[in-house]
Amino acid sequence: MSELIKTEAIVLHKIKYGDTSVIVTLFTKVLGKLSAIVKGGRNPKSKLGLIVDPSNYLQIVFYNKDSREVQLISSADIIQHYPKLKSDFDSLKYSQAILELVKTLIPEHEANTKLFNGLIRIFSLMDESKELPIILFARFFSFFLAELGYQLQLEYCSRCGKKELSNTELSYNYDLGMFCSSCRNHVLESFTLNAELFSTLVCLKYNKKISGDKTALIEKAIQFMEKHLKHHIPDFKGLHSLKVFNNLTLQLNNK
Ligand SMILES: [Zn+2]
Repeated sequence: MSELIKTEAIVLHKIKYGDTSVIVTLFTKVLGKLSAIVKGGRNPKSKLGLIVDPSNYLQIVFYNKDSREVQLISSADIIQHYPKLKSDFDSLKYSQAILELVKTLIPEHEANTKLFNGLIRIFSLMDESKELPIILFARFFSFFLAELGYQLQLEYCSRCGKKELSNTELSYNYDLGMFCSSCRNHVLESFTLNAELFSTLVCLKYNKKISGDKTALIEKAIQFMEKHLKHHIPDFKGLHSLKVFNNLTLQLNNK
């Protein structure tokens, strides 16, 4: 028996299936991540096929059967779509990276309202250009690490407990956390965090204002968070979408 379910959902990914259909990965509010098919979704006249598209925020109705791997979408309505995420290069790049994080790292069938709301919020902020896409992405990444259970520990030195850590050179060990300048020689494997990178990570984690052009530092913060995640999830090989867009930028600049 299949059960008819109505829920809010964000479309994470879409692929062609057969001659006429599409299969999408959805992050739903009530059932978490799942796959679903839109039959006839590749027909240009299919309204359903058009609106069930990555980054769209929808109200969907689908037939759910736990024994089935792919559920069947019966109808969908747009709650919100974010045009800038499809028209502006950087917004597209970083929104794809957000979708990739959720698609590849969140377990299936586990609802997470906080993450769901965080996703909608970050897309709205990006669509309204409240901050640079790269900064919004880095804020989301920091929040996402915490949701996965790999929150950055930036509050005190893991060895001596010292809390005043700004303005010095620090070390970060992916398992143990932060080490102050006096204790950093006691940790074997670590990543050096200079004062600027440390304060950027604190701003991202605590949603503090970032002023001036900090793009280079934000890039470093993103690389640091990617390394942190790779350490904890060996299957994670880094964000594919960022690589694709960076290569595209190189090609465009060489023309
Ligand atoms: Zn210390």
